[in-house]
Amino acid sequence: MKGGLDNILGAVGRTALVRLQRVVPGDFQGELYGKCEFLNPSGSSGDRIAEALVDDAERQGALKPGGTLVEATSGNTGAALALVAAVRGYGAVFVVPDKASPEKVAALRAFGHRVVVCPSAVEPSDPRSHHAVARKIAEDTPGAVLLRQHHNPANPEAHYRTTGPELWDQTGGELDVLVGGLGTGGTLSGAGRYLKERKPSIKVVGVDPVGSLVHDFVKHGLLTRAFPYKVEGIGEDFFPSTLDAKVLDDVVRVDDRECFLMTRELVRREGLFCGGSAGAAVAGALKWARGRKEKCVVLLPDGAGRYLSKVFNDDWMRENGFLAEDKTLGTVRELLAGRAQNLVTARSDDTLRHVIGTMKAHGISQVPVLDGDQLRGILSEVTVLRNLVSGEAHLDSTIAPIVETDYATVTPDTRIDLLQNVLADAKAALVIDGPALLGIIAKIDVIDYLARRVTA
Ligand code: PMP
Repeated sequence: MKGGLDNILGAVGRTALVRLQRVVPGDFQGELYGKCEFLNPSGSSGDRIAEALVDDAERQGALKPGGTLVEATSGNTGAALALVAAVRGYGAVFVVPDKASPEKVAALRAFGHRVVVCPSAVEPSDPRSHHAVARKIAEDTPGAVLLRQHHNPANPEAHYRTTGPELWDQTGGELDVLVGGLGTGGTLSGAGRYLKERKPSIKVVGVDPVGSLVHDFVKHGLLTRAFPYKVEGIGEDFFPSTLDAKVLDDVVRVDDRECFLMTRELVRREGLFCGGSAGAAVAGALKWARGRKEKCVVLLPDGAGRYLSKVFNDDWMRENGFLAEDKTLGTVRELLAGRAQNLVTARSDDTLRHVIGTMKAHGISQVPVLDGDQLRGILSEVTVLRNLVSGEAHLDSTIAPIVETDYATVTPDTRIDLLQNVLADAKAALVIDGPALLGIIAKIDVIDYLARRVTA
């Protein structure tokens, strides 16, 4: 019939671009537009890549009629693949981390597929991680294919073909900046590459949650420690090869609280029924674009309906300390302000003898290592001791080979109660504000800060 689509996949894309008016502060000089990817048929930007991933597997001969799609997903790519599975008659198994919202798991089950839930708080290499379990299921299931959205070039390519040109047409080429959360990085890498080819002055800015290691890898080339956070769909505990760091001009950090409060504002004040990573992207865009006059497009990847039991549930928000009225233990900024000592750093070409002298003189057990502005990592007394005992380091050799990346990074706005999670896993937290390194925090600093608050 004229005007009818052959199937639901024809409804993917051509999502609205909507000006944000009321969440933008009065002194904001630029313009901010939201790309409503949550209006895609399965409810997210995942629809842009699902058909391309399946086409690729069919073309390579890995996927045969009646075969099974297997994917490790935070939920959205799964739902998008479920549409393709329905249209083309495939089975599917989705493997999700346990932080995925109950709404996402229920939606995947509604499409009639098996959903396997795995622990989030384990390393990606751990056999219990959702990535490892998905690999195992794909190996053990006859006719199954693992789509590997985090490493499949078909993912950014789909955004290069659809999201990029669509944004170019919708904005008439007037946009200056594209901002979005980084999950697989496919959206920004693909759409960003297309837009830069059309207009090289366009900037692409990624938003990464505090807890993810993507920010440090892109900015400093260092693989640091990831730690748990609540916002879904963005941030990683490994580096996806679908993320092309060359396309990114900058990465800004946001924490869970900022993401969720902004998400609620977007729904209530703009009428944009979007999810947590949309709030992350808008909060990040406002931070980055403050004081600039640029026209920014922000990606709003999925819908609020997937987070009714979380971001839009006051009990959940309060339990996690995300509501404004909660009394908190303060922030990293307050901890740093109460400290007497200035930041002490080392250089990677310092000798071990010199650094030990510095540690002794200042009574510190770890130092950040910086060469000019370039962060190299940290050196802790435990590592110094281990290397001296094993004979792998000598007092007069440089510290470069034993600098370590066993730290996490936080911002001055990170709450103290979150630091506890961070320091459970990492030796230290580095406080980073844009390009500046403001401090290093170890467990004893948090204990000292809390003790001073109690006795103050
Ligand atoms: N937000 C949400 C909610 C998502 O599901 C995703 C992708 N799974 C993203 C953001 C990030 O998109 P990309 O993977 O293209 O970086």
